[in-house]
Amino acid sequence: MIRGTVAIVGRPNVGKSTLFNRLTRTRTAIVDDRPGVTRDRLYGIVYFDDDRENGFTLIDTGGFETEGVYYQPFSENLVWTQTEAAIKEADVVVLLLDGKSGVHQHDHELARYLDRLGKQVIFVANKIDGPEQRSAAFEFYELGVTDVLTVSAAHGRQIDILLDTIQEKLAAIAPKGDARLSQGAPRIALIGRPNAGKSSILNRLTGEERSVVSDVAGTTRDSIDTALTFNKKDYVIVDTAGIRRRSKIHDKVEGLSVMRSLQAIERADIVLLVIDAKENLTDQDARLADLAASQFKPVAIIVNKWDLVPDKNSNSARDYERDLKIKLKLLQHVPVLFVSCLENQRVHQIMNVVEGLAEDYDRRVETRKLNDALRTIVYEHTPALIRKYSKRPKFYFATQVRTRPPTVVIFCNVANEIQESYKRYITKRFREMLGYGNGPLRVLYRSKAEVRANKDKQSQDSKRGFSSGQQVQAEQDFDYGELPEMSDDDAFSPPDAE
Ligand code: GDP
Ligand code: GDP
Repeated sequence: MIRGTVAIVGRPNVGKSTLFNRLTRTRTAIVDDRPGVTRDRLYGIVYFDDDRENGFTLIDTGGFETEGVYYQPFSENLVWTQTEAAIKEADVVVLLLDGKSGVHQHDHELARYLDRLGKQVIFVANKIDGPEQRSAAFEFYELGVTDVLTVSAAHGRQIDILLDTIQEKLAAIAPKGDARLSQGAPRIALIGRPNAGKSSILNRLTGEERSVVSDVAGTTRDSIDTALTFNKKDYVIVDTAGIRRRSKIHDKVEGLSVMRSLQAIERADIVLLVIDAKENLTDQDARLADLAASQFKPVAIIVNKWDLVPDKNSNSARDYERDLKIKLKLLQHVPVLFVSCLENQRVHQIMNVVEGLAEDYDRRVETRKLNDALRTIVYEHTPALIRKYSKRPKFYFATQVRTRPPTVVIFCNVANEIQESYKRYITKRFREMLGYGNGPLRVLYRSKAEVRANKDKQSQDSKRGFSSGQQVQAEQDFDYGELPEMSDDDAFSPPDAE
C-alpha cells in the first residue's frame, strides 16, 4: 500500500533533486518528467520493498528558486505557494541541508516555519560524501534539533538509513485501522485536470440520484468523503470537498491539482480518470493513470463532454478509445466510457462500471483452476532458456494469496531470472482465462526455497512475538494456505523442453 506523503524542502543547491532522483530512480515505478514551474520532476513513488507492496509519495519542491524568492523566502509567489502547499499536505518533511556549506540563515527560517506548523521533520545533512565529513553535520544542531542524519545523495551513502527513518515516521502517524477502511465500502476517486467535469459527474452521481447517505469526515487532512448507494451496495467518493473546491490559485498553480489527485488515488480503491473529450488525454492524465495502475488500483476512464465532439459517427468512440490506449501502455485493459453531463448521456453507466471493477478487485480464483491455467499457459509457450544457468525456468505451483488487488504467487526455481515479457504473457493469459476482468492483477514470482525459509521465519517470529525485515512484513497479508511438495517432477514444463 502506498501510504503517506513526504516532501523534500531546502535551499537551492542543497541537493534536493539529486536526493529525489536517488530515492525514486532506484525504487520507483514512475517519475513525473513533466517540466513543472521550477522542476523537471515533481513527484514519484518510492517503495520500501522490491515487491512494491509498501511505499510513499515523494514530492520534490522548488522552494527558493528565484533570486527574488531567495531573499524573501515566504513572499507571495507561485513557487513558494507550491512549496508551501507541498509542505502542508505532507505527512513528513525532509529538511535538506548542505553539509558542505554549513548552516545558512534560511535554514533557521525554514526550521522555525516547520516547527510552527507542527510538522514531523527529518533533518538531513547532504553532501557528506565520506565518513570523515560527518563531523560537518554537528554544526546543524544549532537549529535546535536532536538528530541530524548524514547522507550523500550523489553517492548514495546512508540512503537506507534515511528510508528507515521515513518509514518509522510514517508508521507512527498512519491512522490506526486505516487498512480496515478499505475492507468496507469501495472508495472511489474522481481525478483529472481542472474543468474536465469532475464536480459535474459527482453531482450527477450523488445529487440527482438522491442516494447520498451522509457526509463522512475523512481520516486525514481536510478531506470530506461522500457515501452513496448503488444496486443496494455502498460506495464512498473520496475527497469530495477537494473536487468541489473552486479556487483560482488551485487552478493556476501547476502541480497542486496533481498533488490532490495523488492523495485521492492513495486513499481510493477505484480510480475514475475524467478527461475532457475536446482536450484529449494529456501527458499529465497519462501519468496519473499510470501511477494509479502501478499501485494496482482498478482504473476506468471517463471521456466527458462527448456532446462537444462534432460529426460523430458509429466509429467515433472506437477510434477515440484506440488513440487513448496508444498513450496508456500500462492500461490496455481499462474500461473507457463516453459520457455527457450536459446532456445526461450514459452518466448513469459509470456506477455499473464501478460495480464491475469492485467485483474484479475482490475476485478470488481457486487454486486448482489457477494451476490448470498455468499448465496450459506454459505448454502453449515455453519460457526461454536462462543463459546464466543454461536451463529453463520451472514453474511448480500457483496460488492466489490475497484480493484487493488479486495477487497470485507463482513458485518457481529461479524467481528473479524470468523475463519481463514472459511475465506479461502469463498475466495477460491469466486475465483472459480466469475471468479477472478489467481490474488490476498482480503476479509475483518466488523461488520455492526462499518462500519456505520465509514461512519458517514468519512462524518462528510470530512465536517469539516480533517481525523481522521488510520482506516478511510484506508477506504477512499473504495467505499461502497449504503448500505442496513442489519437486522437479511436478513442475509444469512441456515434455520436449529441457
Ligand atoms: P537542489 O537545487 O536542491 O535541487 O540541488 P541539486 O540536486 O540540483 O544539486 C545541487 C548541486 O549539488 C549539484 O551540482 C549536485 O551535483 C550537487 N550535489 C548533490 N548531492 C551531492 C552530494 O551528495 N555530494 C556532493 N559532493 N555534491 C552533491
Ligand atoms: P471540474 O473542474 O473537473 O470539477 O469540472 P466541472 O464539473 O466544474 O466542469 C467544468 C466546466 O465544464 C463547467 O462549466 C461545466 O458546466 C462544463 N461541463 C461539464 N460537463 C460537461 C459536458 O458533458 N458537456 C459540456 N459541454 N460541458 C460540460
